[in-house]
Amino acid sequence: MIRTSKLAGSIQPSATLAAGAKARQLRAAGKAVYDFSLGEPDFDTPKHICEAAAKAALDGHTHYTPAGGTAEVKAAIARWYKKRYGYEFGAENVIVSNGAKHSIHNALAATVGPGDEVVIPTPYWVSYSDLVGMTGATPVLVHTTAAGGFKMTPAQLRAALSPRTRMLMLNSPNNPTGSVYTRAELEALVDALQDTDAAILSDEIYEQLTFGDAKPTCTALLRPWLRDRTITISGASKSYAMTGWRMGWAVGPAAVVKAMDTIQSQETSCPSSVSQAGLIAALDGPQECVAEMRTEFAARRELTVSRLKAMPGLSLPVPDGAFYAFFDVSGFFGKTFGDKTVTDSVTFCAALLEQAHVNLVPGAAFGAEGFARMSFACGRPTIEAGLARLAEWLPTGK
Ligand code: PMP
Ligand code: GLU
Repeated sequence: MIRTSKLAGSIQPSATLAAGAKARQLRAAGKAVYDFSLGEPDFDTPKHICEAAAKAALDGHTHYTPAGGTAEVKAAIARWYKKRYGYEFGAENVIVSNGAKHSIHNALAATVGPGDEVVIPTPYWVSYSDLVGMTGATPVLVHTTAAGGFKMTPAQLRAALSPRTRMLMLNSPNNPTGSVYTRAELEALVDALQDTDAAILSDEIYEQLTFGDAKPTCTALLRPWLRDRTITISGASKSYAMTGWRMGWAVGPAAVVKAMDTIQSQETSCPSSVSQAGLIAALDGPQECVAEMRTEFAARRELTVSRLKAMPGLSLPVPDGAFYAFFDVSGFFGKTFGDKTVTDSVTFCAALLEQAHVNLVPGAAFGAEGFARMSFACGRPTIEAGLARLAEWLPTGK
């Protein structure tokens, strides 16, 4: 018998991917499911991106590339940041990975380890604490509240710092809450780190998905000293509907990028050559597709928020970005639905899926017991129908 490792035993499967798999399973068994679990745009990747990738394959770009991506894809990312934020950097400052999740993993592996602390505000995206744990470093969770817009204050951050703090992980727009820090809020947070040794990992993957007056901020540019202290993470999955292409990247100090490159060369050799060609087309090509998808996400947000707000017992802050609604379901704990008594977010979501076929992700997976996450990255008819089921089901709890 082969024993599995301590590392394997120390991490949880991704709760979002597990919830998505459950929906797929139920569908395969012929059951209708209103699936709001995965944060994955339902749109097909825009055609010009697919065509560029198909051409690359037909033209023979089917070999290993440099470990951190081709010179062409790095130049396309640099052009994109210059145009969008006026952020200028060279090829030595950027690395392309197999998705932003992979970039986050490599960035952590390159910078932290046993004895180090990484500050993570909750609610956090499911994978953060396990990815930190895999390096041997310790996640230090800072709890934020719905009343505070799910934002960490500088005082909370200061209280979480210790001589062992090596990193702060930020994610704005946020998964799972949809909260977006203002520029001034972020400035106040980063200033709390100026006289420390802590670096920042700023996950900006939802930067093209903000609504209303909310605006994304490129954290690395907030202060001149931050460029050497920040690793910016982003990717194509959300903005360009390219989840399956696995294209993410990191921008940061050359020494960190070099260390990530070395790790990646041993781990995966390189990201997919064909996907890199697709990413160049996404970043350099027409951006109307992004605006069109954002407009549709905005309409889905309106629909989702108005339906959820009308349900007695539920409360939620309006998400300013990303495509998630994160709502408080703790008022239903202690109630019995059918033959199931709901005691926490996990049992709430399980009973809802079993009895009403509505699939959410429990807040516990995001370090926030008492809540549930709904992804509205699916069509409006599904949102209408699924939320009608939820509205019918909630009052059945006695
Ligand atoms: N960061 C956040 C906050 C996310 O929600 C996701 C979702 N997949 C990722 C990173 C990773 O994205 P990907 O690996 O698909 O690029
Ligand atoms: N980020 C998405 C989510 O939170 C996709 C799933 C994942 O990568 O874990 O649902």
